[in-house]
Order: sequence, then structure tokens, then C-alpha cells
Amino acid sequence: MKTVRQFSRVGPCLMLGELVTQTDTRIFYRLRDGKTAWAMKSSKLLVHLEPCPSCRDHERGSSSGRPWAKAAQG
Ligand SMILES: [Zn+2]
Repeated sequence: MKTVRQFSRVGPCLMLGELVTQTDTRIFYRLRDGKTAWAMKSSKLLVHLEPCPSCRDHERGSSSGRPWAKAAQG
């Protein structure tokens, strides 16, 4: 399941809703109340599916694993 995100200038990206489908020009997503909405793909920075550095769940330095877990190993 992918989440449709919208870039925000004032803080972390907003989670618009769950991805339903997408066409060449539009991304359709389901709102929390069950309604379906869509956004234009042309605004790349505004709407995206993969976590960007501004998203709350963006993985930072995932290649190094979890540094806090290493401390527990002898
Ligand atoms: Zn983002």
C-alpha cells in the first residue's frame, strides 16, 4: 500500500490518503472518510508517492541500520 503525500512549505509532508490508482496525468487516492479524490501528477513536488526528505517516514541513512541496536551487543 502506498500513501499519497503532498509537500508542505511549513512542515512535514501531508499524508493525503491511500493510493487507489493512477493514470498518466492523475493520482487517485482515498481519503480517511472513504471518499476518493485525485491530484494532478504535473505538480511533482506537491504530490508524490515515495517518501521524500520532508516526509515523516523518510528513512535517513537506512544503510547503516539501527545505531541504537548496536550498543546492546557486547
Ligand atoms: Zn514528502
